[in-house]
Amino acid sequence: MADRPNVYDLSLADCVALLQEWGEPAYRARQWYQHCYRHLTVDPLQMTDWPVRLRERLAAATRWGVLREVALVTGDNGETRKVAWTLPDGSPLETVLMRYPDRATVCVSSQSGCPMQCVFCATGKLGFLHDCSPGEIIEQVIWAARTVRDATTGTAGPRRVTNVVFMGMGEPFNNFDAWWTAVERLHDPAGFNLGARNFTVSTVGLIPGIERLATKSLPVNLAVSLHAADDELRSAMMPVNKRYPIADLMAAVRSYTTQTRRRVSFEYVLLQEKNDDPVQAERLADWLRPADAEPLLCHVNLIPWNPVPGTPLSRSNRRRVTAFQNALQARGVPCTVRIERGVDIAAACGQLAGRP
Ligand code: SF4
Repeated sequence: MADRPNVYDLSLADCVALLQEWGEPAYRARQWYQHCYRHLTVDPLQMTDWPVRLRERLAAATRWGVLREVALVTGDNGETRKVAWTLPDGSPLETVLMRYPDRATVCVSSQSGCPMQCVFCATGKLGFLHDCSPGEIIEQVIWAARTVRDATTGTAGPRRVTNVVFMGMGEPFNNFDAWWTAVERLHDPAGFNLGARNFTVSTVGLIPGIERLATKSLPVNLAVSLHAADDELRSAMMPVNKRYPIADLMAAVRSYTTQTRRRVSFEYVLLQEKNDDPVQAERLADWLRPADAEPLLCHVNLIPWNPVPGTPLSRSNRRRVTAFQNALQARGVPCTVRIERGVDIAAACGQLAGRP
């Protein structure tokens, strides 16, 4: 039974090939694909446009999802939902859905655990456990799409997923091929049909991943987690900085924006008296608005840190957040303070740790 493929790991071409083996016409594959990605069908036995014997054969040959839900918690008056899953190998995974009046965003995990060990992050404390397959990534979005479609309470906002952000557990560029396959599948107009600009990928600054993304024709949004503006501090907070120091990272981002003409977001988590001094803001502005080069095509998201148990860090107070923002704006750096969702259910940035 375990070798039955997860349908969300199958491309349309795979569906065509399987049905061809069974002597079925290609249009059946398109119907099947639309059941997966348009009708969000849960069980192949519900595919009433297929004869029963074919539905039963498909049900016996495939698995319609491999993630096992172990807990669901809601916050923000039901508008934020975090689901904790178990993967087939027992590893934990989490997905967060946030509904707003004008959009529905799902924050997806690309790995279980994470090898990057950022000091402020609950996921990093788990270490690396598992690279998600494309299907395991897609399945999280399908769950969100069904949840939004079927919701009977809450916001009168869209009844479909409008945005997918890869900011859950893991570093997507560490699992680039599977992650990108998932993006292409979810973008496919024959299936889920989500616009490329509705995807955002967040990286700690893996330069090879940024370079690969620059070669892709789908213009997905890139967010780079920076969190400090000098190497000493950034390396202490994010070990990846020892391998890809800030000057190299900024050069890669500049090359990306030149190549693609796409604006990059920088994420900056604010930790009280750790990285929230106006001196850091000035240094950050030096990188983004250098005196000897064009301003970088970018936007900065300031994120007051979300508590992680067992970490001797604290969230910047409002006065320091405002002072940091003012210092950046005085230098002409576009920036906003991100309003966080899901803090009360440990579903906000950096809080995902496979626990309900
Ligand atoms: S912040 Fe992202 S990259 Fe860093 S440890 Fe957490 S999940 Fe991994």
